[in-house]
Amino acid sequence: MIFDSCGNKLPDEMTEKLSTLLWKIIEEAFQYSADAHAKDNGASIPVKDSLYDFIRRRATEELQDEQERETLIQMSEMWGAYVGEPVWKQSMRFAWMEECCGGGKSVVTNKPSLIINIEEMFVASNYSAILGKISKAAADSANILLEKRVISVQTPKDRCAGGQVYVTTNDGSVWPFDEVVMTTPLGWLKKNLDCFSPLLPPRLSLAVINLKLSQLEKVFITFPTAFWISDSERDSFPSYTNWLCPRYTEETNPHHWPQEIWNLASFAPPHNHPTILFYLYGDCSRYIVDKIHHKSKEEKFTFLNNFFLPYYSRLPDFDPNRASCKPKAILATEWLKDELNGYGSYCNFQSGIEEADRDVEIIRASCVERRLWFCGEHAAPFEECGTVAGAYLSGENIGKRIGELYGPK
Ligand SMILES: Cc1cc2nc3c(=O)[nH]c(=O)nc-3n(C[C@H](O)[C@H](O)[C@H](O)COP(=O)(O)OP(=O)(O)OC[C@H]3O[C@@H](n4cnc5c(N)ncnc54)[C@H](O)[C@@H]3O)c2cc1C
Repeated sequence: MIFDSCGNKLPDEMTEKLSTLLWKIIEEAFQYSADAHAKDNGASIPVKDSLYDFIRRRATEELQDEQERETLIQMSEMWGAYVGEPVWKQSMRFAWMEECCGGGKSVVTNKPSLIINIEEMFVASNYSAILGKISKAAADSANILLEKRVISVQTPKDRCAGGQVYVTTNDGSVWPFDEVVMTTPLGWLKKNLDCFSPLLPPRLSLAVINLKLSQLEKVFITFPTAFWISDSERDSFPSYTNWLCPRYTEETNPHHWPQEIWNLASFAPPHNHPTILFYLYGDCSRYIVDKIHHKSKEEKFTFLNNFFLPYYSRLPDFDPNRASCKPKAILATEWLKDELNGYGSYCNFQSGIEEADRDVEIIRASCVERRLWFCGEHAAPFEECGTVAGAYLSGENIGKRIGELYGPK
């Protein structure tokens, strides 16, 4: 379901047509970027070109009607909720590295059962079972110290010369290790490059600086019941709803940041909740989090409710006088204020970056000679950068490499 910039719902056929076309263009963009990468390492795509430039160009070729073209271009802003920054910041040269986002081809669907997708899995519950499984070996066998933050890492210059890696934590303790695998977020590394002694090799430091960090946040608004679903048996409300470039909220959203929700009531029981989930990114994230940070629960509620009311009040069957249409609770993340989260969400590849793939490779390669390794979403296989799966795979890869170094035991 899509609302235009005046707040009116677009006809379903129009939503369907433009959404299909948009994903077709995005797939073309991936292909164009991948072809250039194969041909000349992407050099044939100017470094400043963005995915937005590509979409605008293709929209002009595909659509005669100016209004439709404008709507399609506005719809392309939903890309921001995938990568955490606006579509005009997405590097075209390195769009191929975001192909995991292309999984959402069927993003606008009237099927309640969700986001159908040929390549990606969708977990309607939460990550706890997966987390339990992948953390089992560490939880069973490792010595895990909580409430300690690493503040410095001293490495030997040369593996062959012997010597250990010394990790200092914020309580002043110093811990010696044979090998150290740093899993701190990219944002943390960016702010703490000087914690390594000796400093990291210049190209590795540069890779950490080059890769940009996005700022994705979520706001959950829970109601007494899912008032937007009139017939819970049939549930024809789409999983995804988008408010394009709102021009009816000058007071609360003068920059016209688009808004979008996922409908958490659309999942099969017991995972359905009378909750809508707003995804925020870029400047909108920064604005909202700055406004609510350090505020009381009541102040947060009031601010967030005022901000989001113009959008959720456009959902079907909204009635300001009905108790079921008044939010019961609002929860907003504040990742960008969280040191342990690296003050952001995950890496993305913004126009202007020259060697994003090389930067990721350099981080992945780590400092083997110094017994220092890096993993996390920013060291993932290319198409999985920025994801949980990518972070896991990067760790598995480092585990294997260290295993090979020490040989079978
Ligand atoms: C709003 C949002 C939505 C997302 N949606 C998705 C999604 O739908 N699918 C998906 O796959 N991914 C999603 N992601 C991305 C995903 O969460 C990350 O890619 C993934 O968690 C990165 O894992 P990581 O291990 O690299 O880093 P993290 O999960 O950030 O782990 C880093 C760890 O390092 C610890 N740490 C930090 N500093 C220190 C220190 N100084 N000393 C000791 N420990 C420290 C932290 O406490 C943390 O435990 C989303 C992210 C955000 C913010």
